[in-house]
Amino acid sequence: MPQWSELTQASFERKARQTKVAVMVTCAVETHGDHLPLGTDMILPTFLAEKIAQKTKALVLPPIPFGESWSFDVFKGTVSLRPETLLMVYRDVMKAVFRQGFKFIIALNGHGGNSRLLHQAAEYSTEDHDGTVVIVNWWSDLAASVRAEICETPDGHAGEDETSEVLAVRPDLVDMKAAKSARIRTTFRIVSASRREELLPRGIYGEPQNATAEKGRAIMERAEKELIELVQQLEKGKLPISE
Ligand SMILES: [Zn+2]
Repeated sequence: MPQWSELTQASFERKARQTKVAVMVTCAVETHGDHLPLGTDMILPTFLAEKIAQKTKALVLPPIPFGESWSFDVFKGTVSLRPETLLMVYRDVMKAVFRQGFKFIIALNGHGGNSRLLHQAAEYSTEDHDGTVVIVNWWSDLAASVRAEICETPDGHAGEDETSEVLAVRPDLVDMKAAKSARIRTTFRIVSASRREELLPRGIYGEPQNATAEKGRAIMERAEKELIELVQQLEKGKLPISE
């Protein structure tokens, strides 16, 4: 089971020679309403990363728990890193991984606020090394067809899809009695530090009451399948692109 941090140096060297791919799991600790755990954006991508570790030769780095959660930083329980801090963390981790000889990093990302920083870190780190970063914003890039088919409401934050996924993976951490909808509508992009609670009522954007564990299982199973196919493709040195 190739979890990077569980290997000795000698076994790491052996395992690293058998794969081109390392998996970086990037997370967040932030409010997900009153019904989902603060670590939702860590629990879901980490679950998928464990499947990669079990079923492929790719090496999975320990998850980076904190993310860029500025929009949620006024809600209790949220721990957000400044963008410049997170950019440096991502950049240093990517450089360290490429220095070890890996050709591909899958950044298995659990949280929207991290995406642009992963992108910037990937630009810097691939300038200095012969390596490629594939950023997988898992909640939108994976299992898209399954989500479209089975979810009754659009995606959001702590809404139908995400609540279903946690119900599938860690039902013990979900309080469905506290699940309530909230989805503000606006034509414009509004930014205001002092009015964040108005812009994200109760930390929710979606309809969690529609969630079921069955929907979550269908999404997670397809996401796992697509991720494993991605690893297999990268092991052959091929980029996941089509014409
Ligand atoms: Zn989330």
